[in-house]
Amino acid sequence: MKVLVLNCGSSSIKYQMIQTETASPLAKGNIERIGMASAILTHEPTGGEKIKIVGEILDHKSAIEYVIAVLLSKNHGVIKNIDEIDAVGHRVVHGGETFTGSVLITDAVLSAIKDNIELAPLHNPANIKGIEAAKIHLGDKPQIAVFDTAFHSHMPDFAYLYGIPLALYKKHKIRRYGFHGTSHRYVSKRACTRLGKPLEELKIITAHLGNGASIAAIKNGISVDTSMGFTPLEGLLMGTRSGDMDPSVILHIMAKEELSIMDANTMLNKHSGLIGLSGESSDMREIEEAVQKGNKKAETAFNVFTYRIKKYIGAYAAAMGGLDAVVFTGGIGENSVLVREEVCKDLGFLGIDFDFEKNKTAKDEAILTKENSKVTVLRIPTNEELVIALDTEKIVNDIKTE
Ligand code: ADP
Repeated sequence: MKVLVLNCGSSSIKYQMIQTETASPLAKGNIERIGMASAILTHEPTGGEKIKIVGEILDHKSAIEYVIAVLLSKNHGVIKNIDEIDAVGHRVVHGGETFTGSVLITDAVLSAIKDNIELAPLHNPANIKGIEAAKIHLGDKPQIAVFDTAFHSHMPDFAYLYGIPLALYKKHKIRRYGFHGTSHRYVSKRACTRLGKPLEELKIITAHLGNGASIAAIKNGISVDTSMGFTPLEGLLMGTRSGDMDPSVILHIMAKEELSIMDANTMLNKHSGLIGLSGESSDMREIEEAVQKGNKKAETAFNVFTYRIKKYIGAYAAAMGGLDAVVFTGGIGENSVLVREEVCKDLGFLGIDFDFEKNKTAKDEAILTKENSKVTVLRIPTNEELVIALDTEKIVNDIKTE
């Protein structure tokens, strides 16, 4: 089956055309600066030449039109006819408490996704625009929604409730939802395959470390806790987000600095984390370069980042009553030798016998611990698009056999 996977942001769209039987992309690309006269489409057919097109793309409707046109194009395309697209899989950020798995998008589903806009005011509207635009151009094809929150929807109440009046949970749905679920799900499954053990028998901690970062405790295949919360702001230190802090600090700063709600939101989401502490960069590569040059503030930011991951690993091992594997994924988790080393180096007491040499040379899916280590640490590149394509294929096949 050929599935067009779409990840629609407010001014950008990432796409992949995936052949599910081979689990491989036929082409991938993205459009940036939607809404501007000089929007940029970058397209790369697998094994072919990467091209860039600059043009006026004012909305999601014309953006999807461009995507389809380039997929069909004579020189750079990967399909000859639009009918070769069997289905569309959409990444949708917030499924709230409504969606516990991927679903076929019907009018009722779309309306439920709209109901969740309040929970994800920046993300869900863009996802909805993408769905509506795809419907215009590919109306007769099944469209599937795959939610970032769904994998975490089986957490126990003691993990998802905050210690605030319960009425606020009931009235406003204030609770931990968690994000990056598609990635946590994928890498935990891959870890089981690598370990040759069933998911139902393992206690795994997955650390998705990218610009946004979250960590999850996956016990017997179920996400029982995760560090992101009501929004993606909670938990680990991130590129520009604060992660965990005493909530009173926010009130105090708002009063002292006379910040509006909007200002405080921007401060916590855009000017905190690695950039806030280092004053240098939100990008881990640049932080590491600055550390090498002796920059103390960058070193502090690096230490806060890695310390928090270590702290969560300890907490989640306790929460699950044991630990079999730790997985590193995301841009930092996959590529930063130093972050993995710093996080794992003193965790021998947990049963992690870290192999510093393997860690230095690891690529693709790799084990980073010594042979007899009680707990296995793995590097597993994430592949959220593939999960979306495979969920889409399964739902479409299920519909056909109904
Ligand atoms: P996003 O969350 O936006 O998808 P990514 O998963 O691509 O982000 O991760 C981006 C982060 O990965 C950046 O902080 C970047 O510096 C970091 N990164 C990428 N390559 C390396 C590397 N070789 N060493 C350290 N950090 C890296």
